[in-house]
Amino acid sequence: MAQRLRCPTCQRAIQWSEQFPYRPFCSDRCRLIDLGAWLSGKHAIADDAAQAAEERAPGLYEPPER
Ligand SMILES: [Zn+2]
Repeated sequence: MAQRLRCPTCQRAIQWSEQFPYRPFCSDRCRLIDLGAWLSGKHAIADDAAQAAEERAPGLYEPPER
């Protein structure tokens, strides 16, 4: 009866059942990895860019023109 699927993080085969409380992920670890990847793609890069600019010219950070 249980639906079969794969963990989006590690591609491990799991079942859609109470055996896998973190579904669609196989484990809490894979859930956090996926969340972390999403966050690093959205926020961490912007933070790094602002921080790097501040190190070069403190207080004079200007966003790059587009
Ligand atoms: Zn996994």
